[in-house]
Amino acid sequence: MAYKISDECISCGACEAECPVQAISQGDDKYVIDADACLDCGACAGVCPVEAPQAE
Ligand code: SF4
Ligand code: SF4
Repeated sequence: MAYKISDECISCGACEAECPVQAISQGDDKYVIDADACLDCGACAGVCPVEAPQAE
């Protein structure tokens, strides 16, 4: 299980600093989560203004 960032992402960058394992990085048109590193903690979803990170 891992969180995935939807197309709703506005690339604000708020989630990147919240991730305890640095699994989030800026992609071409939105931020992306490394599914292999994600711990499913939900911290990114808690700070996102548009609820883009979703539990898969
Ligand atoms: Fe990082 Fe937690 Fe979000 Fe996974 S759910 S990307 S571990 S902040
Ligand atoms: Fe995208 Fe939400 Fe992360 Fe901002 S906090 S970069 S809108 S996923």
